[in-house]
Amino acid sequence: MIHNLLQGNQDFVKGEFALNDRYYQSLAVKQSPKVLWIGCSDSRVSEDVITGSRLGTMFVHRNVANIVAFNDVNISSILEYGVVHLKIEDIIICGHTRCGGIAAIEDGVHENYISDWLCIASGAKDITDRIAKEKKLSREEKLELLSAENVKLQIKHLKNLALIKNMHQKGELPRIHGWLYRVETGKIDVLIDGRTGQTAAALKKMEKSPGTRAAHKTSGKRDSAKSTARK
Ligand SMILES: [Zn+2]
Repeated sequence: MIHNLLQGNQDFVKGEFALNDRYYQSLAVKQSPKVLWIGCSDSRVSEDVITGSRLGTMFVHRNVANIVAFNDVNISSILEYGVVHLKIEDIIICGHTRCGGIAAIEDGVHENYISDWLCIASGAKDITDRIAKEKKLSREEKLELLSAENVKLQIKHLKNLALIKNMHQKGELPRIHGWLYRVETGKIDVLIDGRTGQTAAALKKMEKSPGTRAAHKTSGKRDSAKSTARK
């Protein structure tokens, strides 16, 4: 595997880098990323690949289950450098389906560090438990909803950090976007539209109360799972 990685780098240098030498030389002088990405460490959710972005586009922080922790100097320093020094105006928190961290929140986990870390997302489980019970969600639907509710919760955490809170009190920046990447389709659903601050249609649909789904009641769980996958 290691050999493949080094070979891949050689190919990159001779191909992409050489073909776009001027671009990479300008990047070598200075980075000016337009987006701060907070995502999961999962190997299937590489922000550059899933958004078709070139190097230099995003300033990145990734951890287990894309969490914004209050006492994490790591994420705080990245945020400070990103919004104060790089003057990034858009922050994306991107969760994903089939997330191991999210499954561990649902099922409980005994490893000490992982368990402590995931406590920061426990609030998302409370609301998901309630909606899942009301809507009689399958396990897969529930985990998907938990991924989405976790993104919503982490946006709340981000907005409560003094750095961001003080900036928002002076104006609208940085805009904070909530996304959900679907590892089974490769598509990104917008959950919170950072341009308006509003909950987007995809999340509204996931959170919709059972009463508003009455018309589809006869279609059963299987159809409901299919329609979720099509979103
Ligand atoms: Zn994950």
